[in-house]
Amino acid sequence: SGEEMRAQVLVIGAGPGGYTAAFRAADLGQSVVLVERWPTLGGVCLNVGCIPSKALLHAAKVIDESHAMAAHGISFTAPQIDIDKLRTWKDGVVKRLVGGLGGLAKQRKVTVVTGEARFVSPNQVAVAHEGQTRIIGFDHAIIAAGSEPVQMPFIPHDDPRVIDSTGALELDGVPARLLVIGGGIIGLEMATVYHALGSKVTIVELMDQIIPGADKDLVTPLMKRIQKQYEAIHLKAKVTAVEATPEGLKVSFEGGTAPASDTFDKVLVSVGRRPNGKRIGAEAAGVAVDERGFIAVDKQMRTNVSHIFAIGDIVGQPMLAHKATHEGKVAAEVAAGKASAFDAKVIPSVAYTDPEVAWVGMTENEAKAKGIKVGKGVFPWAASGRSLALGREEGLTKVLFDPETDRILGCGIVGPNAGDLIAEAALAIEMGADAEDIGLTIHPHPTLSETIGLAAEAFEGTITDLY
Ligand code: FAD
Repeated sequence: SGEEMRAQVLVIGAGPGGYTAAFRAADLGQSVVLVERWPTLGGVCLNVGCIPSKALLHAAKVIDESHAMAAHGISFTAPQIDIDKLRTWKDGVVKRLVGGLGGLAKQRKVTVVTGEARFVSPNQVAVAHEGQTRIIGFDHAIIAAGSEPVQMPFIPHDDPRVIDSTGALELDGVPARLLVIGGGIIGLEMATVYHALGSKVTIVELMDQIIPGADKDLVTPLMKRIQKQYEAIHLKAKVTAVEATPEGLKVSFEGGTAPASDTFDKVLVSVGRRPNGKRIGAEAAGVAVDERGFIAVDKQMRTNVSHIFAIGDIVGQPMLAHKATHEGKVAAEVAAGKASAFDAKVIPSVAYTDPEVAWVGMTENEAKAKGIKVGKGVFPWAASGRSLALGREEGLTKVLFDPETDRILGCGIVGPNAGDLIAEAALAIEMGADAEDIGLTIHPHPTLSETIGLAAEAFEGTITDLY
């Protein structure tokens, strides 16, 4: 058969979905081969996504706080930014994590194969690396090939001044004027970083609000803050052309408050990600891939071919690392013969902007669109002692309840650390908690977490103490 290797479980792609699946399968006693085309494990999330962005966002936060404290009696001299040192630190964080993954793979005897995998039959892949190809056979395969940034035909993506999130994270200098196309989570996080490092930032977004997936009341405090900080934010506007000139990138706009054209030093294109479903030779295995490149799966993460699974960004929205890891576990367990299924009620979303915006479960927009009646408890952070002690007051915690049963349906939080706080609401939803359960739970004082308990009390009409 020409097979050089055979695995009980073969995993394509070593992102959060793929490495989790590989490790879980190995822990369940399967012989596992993990194929990755990049030189390091960790996929988008560890190498060019979640982790490097959070390192740079931490740096941005320190810079912003140092400015903010001037109003409260502590002034620093202007930060001196050594961009090479900052990049080295960020790269070090990534290196430590991806190196750790390599060690974990070794410990578990997961065979890591470097190269690009394509199916050549329903039970074999060909892995190409540096001009060599080898055939690996498998009993079960798990496709975890992830996604890549969407490009647009009227943008000269080959010009080094046009960057995607990967380019932005490379930190190859700080442009004087940066245009961010797309006001979603990734674009806004990168805008936060570059603004703190000194760029004048402009954002252009097609919809009538930034982070279109979140309720407007949650996005408003962020919008108000960045409107003061950034050069411009154009909503209901789009870019129609980008022309590379020696002076800069000449951008044509249409709609909203955008000018007809303007010139920028760099343009960050962050208009979404598309799945890698079309580059794995799926047809040779009979795996169905839709026209956008997504692969449909059932609750056991099986594709239409029952011994081949798919997980992570490649199976659809939300494209988030914590979804990929949970799906990876399920696929590995089912492949190893266990009764397992992906049945999460909710998957939290977080924008690690300043303030952070986080939501889980039902949003008010969704309730309205579906005609579902919801009750809500809202707690403004201006009434939180801890928030004021942080020098901030714009936050908001909103919890949605079923008006009949008082059970929690969803939660949205905006404010510093909203991303950490939202986990409590996710647990409450999974446990089927009602407003009383949440309100009677003693939250530590003074913390921002109290705002969740207080929002539940506000819904029940039992709220007494503020601050
Ligand atoms: P990926 O991480 O995309 O990994 C897929 C892997 O498969 C890659 O390593 C790729 O090289 C490999 N591969 C593809 N095709 C082949 C092939 N044919 N053969 C061999 N290998 C192949 N999510 C969060 O939850 N929180 C965040 O804070 C967050 N921040 C982000 C910030 C940025 C800038 C970006 C871009 C994304 C961010 N995400 C975040 C999203 C997150 O990175 C993804 O949801 C997650 O990485 C998806 O995991 P995955 O396992 O599906 O695939």
